[in-house]
Amino acid sequence: MLATLLMIAAFQGAAEVAPRELAPGVHLITGVRAPDRGPDGNTIVFDGRDGLVVVDTGRHVWHSDAILSFARSRARPIAAIVNTHWHLDHSSGNLRLKAAFPHARVYATNAIDRALADGGFLAREFARTPEYLADPSFTETDKDEVRIFIATMGERNALRPDIQVSRSDRRRIGGRRFDVHVTDNAVTDADVWLYDPSTRIAVLGDLVTFPVPYFETACPNRWRAALDEVWATPFALAVPGHGDPMTREQFDIYRAAFGGLVDCVHTEATVESCGEGYSQTLTPLLNGDEARRQRVAAGVAFYVGYLRENGGKSADCLAS
Ligand SMILES: [Zn+2]
Repeated sequence: MLATLLMIAAFQGAAEVAPRELAPGVHLITGVRAPDRGPDGNTIVFDGRDGLVVVDTGRHVWHSDAILSFARSRARPIAAIVNTHWHLDHSSGNLRLKAAFPHARVYATNAIDRALADGGFLAREFARTPEYLADPSFTETDKDEVRIFIATMGERNALRPDIQVSRSDRRRIGGRRFDVHVTDNAVTDADVWLYDPSTRIAVLGDLVTFPVPYFETACPNRWRAALDEVWATPFALAVPGHGDPMTREQFDIYRAAFGGLVDCVHTEATVESCGEGYSQTLTPLLNGDEARRQRVAAGVAFYVGYLRENGGKSADCLAS
């Protein structure tokens, strides 16, 4: 997985650093992409009555530092952390945030439990870390990423929820009302996405990773259904796990590209033509950058091969 994530890193654009206000009381801390590093997911910070509600906490120290310095600049405590899913580019920062704000409670599904259990995705990757560290093809930066992973696994309980989210519901988190949605097998066994009725902002985690979806642990068919559920809400702005916030129109283009890709996986079409079809549909969002479009096509072609090896889904997907 590590090698895959590092490869995909090359497909993403550069990121901005300063927190950006998307609406009054809603700020985006963009996942910064450092050269040759694994990604950090986007963080969204909502003002709540009880303090700040931080959605996703990144992987690297510089990302959690950005969250902590934002909280200090607002002179407000972090009251709650929501993990959209357990991928470590969204949850590794939990520990540092909780160390600074011990009252912060982590809201997440229990999907992390299977990933950490014997034979689970993270347990398998963790078992391979000695091999990665001894691999001469790994650069020092790659090995540093492995060490970050090892450190996170050493404190793995910080990845687990304090408050388990098990079903979709309207609920208060940190004193702010959200429509909390729980997916049934999409990016992971169960992901969380939020709709904030007061601003019409939807926070999607890796239901959208722009420009290429990360399918490592995914059930593509259910994921596609989750995108349709997002579409059914009256959101005005959708914040992806990676990439810039999207208008409804932009999200719908992504949704169409994703749906076409899932269909293509189940055909006899070559992986290249599936990647080509996806990137063509996505073209309006790629700013006329032909070289980037070609990289997107190649990245998607890789995943089509990966999904076909496992009957159209990831090896870790338990659903249809
Ligand atoms: Zn991610």
